[in-house]
Amino acid sequence: MLNTLWMERARCQEIPPNTFFPSDGLGVEVAKAICAECAVSGNCLEYALSQRIDHGVWGGCSERQRRRIRRERRRSAVAA
Ligand code: SF4
Repeated sequence: MLNTLWMERARCQEIPPNTFFPSDGLGVEVAKAICAECAVSGNCLEYALSQRIDHGVWGGCSERQRRRIRRERRRSAVAA
């Protein structure tokens, strides 16, 4: 079963959700700065990766960064 207890400690709980779905690069940086101060950013990132969430900033990573991580992990899995 998926563990989502970490969400109770999410720094973004009191922040409007649309902050994490920015429409430009500046917005991405704002969201990432909030994530940088979040105690559960690692859990958040792994959640977004495992659930294949394509949109928004999760765990301090943009959509593009998460796509890169997924690609690198796939590559590593093939090479192992
Ligand atoms: S890492 Fe960012 S999006 Fe994830 S829970 Fe923390 S503040 Fe929210």
